[in-house]
Formats: sequence, C-alpha cells, structure tokens
Amino acid sequence: MFEEVIKLKREKNAVVLAHNYQRPEVQDVADFIGDSLNLSLAARNTPARLVVFAGVYFMAETAAVLNPQKKVVIPDLGAGCSLASSVDVEKVKKWREKNPNGVVVSYINTYVDVKALSDYVCTSANCLKIVESIPRDRPVLFLPDKYLGMYIAAKLGREIEIWDGECHVHAKLTTPAILTKVKLHRDAEVLVHPECGCGTACLLEFPKLGVEPKFLSTEGMVNYVKRSPSKRFIVATETGIIYRMAREAPGKDYIPAAEDAVCEYMKLTTLEKVYRSLRDEIYVVSVPRDLAERARLAIERMFQFT
Ligand code: SF4
Repeated sequence: MFEEVIKLKREKNAVVLAHNYQRPEVQDVADFIGDSLNLSLAARNTPARLVVFAGVYFMAETAAVLNPQKKVVIPDLGAGCSLASSVDVEKVKKWREKNPNGVVVSYINTYVDVKALSDYVCTSANCLKIVESIPRDRPVLFLPDKYLGMYIAAKLGREIEIWDGECHVHAKLTTPAILTKVKLHRDAEVLVHPECGCGTACLLEFPKLGVEPKFLSTEGMVNYVKRSPSKRFIVATETGIIYRMAREAPGKDYIPAAEDAVCEYMKLTTLEKVYRSLRDEIYVVSVPRDLAERARLAIERMFQFT
C-alpha cells in the first residue's frame, strides 16, 4: 500500500499533506507533516496539481481556499472537529452588528463561513502577536477556543471576549492530569499546547510550584525537542505528535500528559483511505467563491505575522 501511494503520487503530480496528529503510517507516506499553520503554507506553496489532505475538514477547506486552481481532496469526509463545530455563525454576525468597531480573531480551527466573517485568522503560533497588534480601544472577539482565549488574555493582560468552545481532546489535559505527570517525572521538561484545559493554570500557577512549562504550537514543540539538551519531556497535546518527535529527535523520552488525549477525527484517516483518495481523487473539498475570497483575506492577514 505504501509503495502504491508513492507511485500514484508521482503519476498524478500529487502531494500528501499530513497533520502532526495523524496515524504513524499516514505520516510516513506524507510529503509534508506539520501543524495547521505550516500545512496552510505548504498547501499554498506546492506546485502539485492534486493535494491529498490527511487532516480534518477545516484544514482541507483552508488549503482549498488558498489554492483555488488546485484539486484538494480529503480521505474521509467524516473527519470533523468538535472545536470548529462549536461556532454559531449567526451569533458571530450579531456580535459584529453590536460592535461595529470590533475585531473578530478566529483560530484556524474554524470552518470557512466563520473565517469569512473574521478580520484575522490565527494559530497558536501567532495569536499573541495578532491580538497585541489590535489597538486596545477596540473590542476583540476571540473564537472558538476558550482555553486559548484565556491564555491570550492572561498573557497580554487584556480583556477580550472569548467564545465558549473547546476541543474535547485538549480539554482532557487538565491541571491535575499534568501535575500527576510532573510529580512522577521531575526531571522532564513540560511542553504545553495553549489549547489545553490547563493552559492558564499552567501559566499562572505552575511557576509557583517550581515548574516552568513551555507554551508551544505543535510545530514549536517538534522544533524545541530537536534543539533542547533535555532527554525527557511531558507532552501536553494530542498524542499523535509523539511519533513525529521520536522520529525527528530520537533517543529521548516523550511522556504523554494524558494517554487518552487522542482525536478520533484525526485517526479516521488510514493509509488505505489515503490510497483510495489519491486513486479516485475523492472527496473533493470546494468552497464557494465569495466565501473563499473573504476567508482568504483573513488568512492572508495572518501570514503577515508569520
Ligand atoms: S484535536 Fe481537537 S481541535 Fe484538533 S481536530 Fe481534533 S477535535 Fe479538532
């Protein structure tokens, strides 16, 4: 199957882009592995005709928005996202009406209709810079992740309105879960994705206990473990990232902060489905032109901060 995928990619002038949370065998067959931001950049820069997006739907949609001239396919149409699904577009429209001077900043984990209503799209790697650049007298609505929103507000010391959404996987990464691991592995560095349920407590409370977590995007985590002289890390994000860490920075211990932090949507994509997707060029992800144009503006504004 692996060989077949490699052969088909060549024949069809195709690339496979895989998110860090994908299954190991899917990561192995990918041309590019990364987080949402880096996959968006890879989708924008690839000269390939066909992009097979091994990730969840909002990510493939973002790739389609950035590549209207390319064919973007997703191996499993059921690959959704509990966080992206938490947004009610009508409520965002009402907020805009009530706050004509307001600024909507949407995490990249949103569907295209929400991005189209946003001033900025952001990822965990650039959210602080983007919110910081907005004049303080303008109200900000950050959506949809409440933990990331609380982290931004605490870090910048700024009041922002925060959507009440969460990723059910990162919500499992609570303060008690991480503290248990910290007590068991005193010599390990603690890497935390700011989407985690523990985010603000990690930021404000852990230093009092002598623990200095590093807040990083998944791409930031991979780069960090490659550079760090440390040998052991507690990893607070979806566990799929550990496969990539062990491959790119071998010989170190990676301890999941919660073993059950596994995204069932990400794991829907299998090698067989990638093969079928390449062979039959299914399932095509397309975005209505007007929505795509408005969403692209908000995404391009993010790239200015990258
Ligand atoms: S890990 Fe959470 S935010 Fe990421 S795709 Fe899965 S449900 Fe969505």
